[in-house]
Amino acid sequence: MNLPNVQFTEEQKQFRQEVRSFLKQHIEDGTFETRCDSWLSGSDPSFSKLVAEQGWIGMTWPKQYGGSERSTIDRYILTEEFLAFGAPVAAHWFADRQTGPLLLRFGTDYQKEFFLPKIVKGECFFAIGLSEPNSGSDLASVATRAEKVEGGWIVNGAKTWSSNAHDAHYMVTLIRTEPLGEKKHEGLSQFIIDLKGEGVTIAPIRYLTGEPHFNDIYLDNVFVPDEMVVGTLGNGWKQGLAELAFERSGPERILSTFPLLNEVIEQLKIKRDLVGLEEATKLVAELWSLRNLSIGVAKVLEEGGEVAVPAALVKSIGTKFEQKIPEIIRLMLDVYPNLHSDNRVERYLAESILHAPGFTIRGGTSEVLYGILAKGVIAQ
Ligand SMILES: Cc1cc2nc3c(=O)[nH]c(=O)nc-3n(C[C@H](O)[C@H](O)[C@H](O)COP(=O)(O)OP(=O)(O)OC[C@H]3O[C@@H](n4cnc5c(N)ncnc54)[C@H](O)[C@@H]3O)c2cc1C
Repeated sequence: MNLPNVQFTEEQKQFRQEVRSFLKQHIEDGTFETRCDSWLSGSDPSFSKLVAEQGWIGMTWPKQYGGSERSTIDRYILTEEFLAFGAPVAAHWFADRQTGPLLLRFGTDYQKEFFLPKIVKGECFFAIGLSEPNSGSDLASVATRAEKVEGGWIVNGAKTWSSNAHDAHYMVTLIRTEPLGEKKHEGLSQFIIDLKGEGVTIAPIRYLTGEPHFNDIYLDNVFVPDEMVVGTLGNGWKQGLAELAFERSGPERILSTFPLLNEVIEQLKIKRDLVGLEEATKLVAELWSLRNLSIGVAKVLEEGGEVAVPAALVKSIGTKFEQKIPEIIRLMLDVYPNLHSDNRVERYLAESILHAPGFTIRGGTSEVLYGILAKGVIAQ
């Protein structure tokens, strides 16, 4: 892999300070409390609206759709700060990270004009409908099917583990539109489903913490108009793969438990605990290397390069790293994890421990990513 070494410009450093001031102010004002894994489990539509007012949703998108045409690296800085401060950005995360880029690349003019300005204003959230009760890693085996009718399609089936679908307006869904043939990756299409529409039932599945997070979604004779088919019929697999590159390489694959590490370091500094700080420094060094890798992938993505293999690398090593932070801290400090504690280390430790099992599963399991890495290396 030949990833670029990205240097931030003076404007980008200033932008980071601007984002920090915004987040610090909102913490001081009590708008939100820092938490771990906030990008996926901290859903707060009213905070997303505040982010939108700053012009920070869809910031890389064309001005014609309400974006600011800023760089991918600017967006990287923004997301990094959201994660470091544990801000509740989950409501708009999928729409900003992957639905917008998907529509910009494959969507019709109607879809771009209808959805993108609403996403940018923080008024339209998306869920991801890939997994099914009998289909996860082997995604091409999805059984949710659509039959052609006048003016659209009738969809039947079930999706599962759909994060934040209870707060979302729409879901991008992978559906079988042609009977299963010899090549199972063919005959799949991407549909946008209105989650408030007739025939859609959303049933919550709770996290280990007890919070609502992901959902089962039952689709019972749901009508999807032709204009809600994304891209080309039958090309859903290839379009979905393009989306995964955005999904796998971002800072959210490294920083889900960063608020815990940061807080521990602050407390160790106050206590002048040199032994503890030495342990923490090892984690920071590892974090820094992963971060360089992840920024390098962001830059290649911006330039339109192929990143499937490095993105799989970032996700597979990055998520193991974010899992390791609570494990090491738990053994290092004499603290008891408690979700309801006023002590931030105790609270962040509890959040991290209870969320960590999902890090290496969501967005593609580590084992599946190792397969991509092995094949990528063999192909060279
Ligand atoms: C927190 C969280 C949020 C999620 N959010 C969403 C969402 O918003 N939308 C959505 O669609 N899905 C979501 N998912 C689902 C997630 O994408 C799937 O759980 C994941 O793809 C694995 O699928 P599975 O659970 O069916 O496991 P399986 O595919 O059944 O895998 C079971 C085990 O077998 C291993 N395995 C499978 N295939 C291979 C292989 N070829 N080689 C080696 N080992 C293999 C896996 O690594 C795993 O250990 C979420 C999951 C989590 C944990």
